[in-house]
Amino acid sequence: MSVTGRCFCGAVRFEFGQPPLAARACWCRDCQYLSSGNASVNAIFRTEGFRLSGTVAEYVSQADSGATMRRRFCPTCGTPLFAHSVDRPDVMVVRVGALDDPALGRPGGYIWTGSAPDWGHVDPTLENCPGQPGAVRRG
Ligand SMILES: [Zn+2]
Ligand SMILES: [Zn+2]
Repeated sequence: MSVTGRCFCGAVRFEFGQPPLAARACWCRDCQYLSSGNASVNAIFRTEGFRLSGTVAEYVSQADSGATMRRRFCPTCGTPLFAHSVDRPDVMVVRVGALDDPALGRPGGYIWTGSAPDWGHVDPTLENCPGQPGAVRRG
């Protein structure tokens, strides 16, 4: 089963050869910027077999977890599309809103709930983590 998606304007299209490994909602401060205040729902895919058409712009920053993240977005419409840690090139995160079928991105849990505003929605029936799950502590 392949999974396809695109940015809002359609200039960037992408495809993965297999369904996501997992999906989760992230309340980290970075995601709040990128999703207009809400938690961002992100699907994690294996990079292998990833196909991209169109031109993306990139912004590199350090995440709250300490990881250096490469974030790619459409330079025409600004849709955030992909992110991956430079330490983990084998997997990448895709913003679920960019999938042609967002139903594939049902979150299995919430992360960085400690950064959510007091009105922020967290599903108490799912696994929740106040920060980065399984974070490697860095000096
Ligand atoms: Zn676009
Ligand atoms: Zn986040």
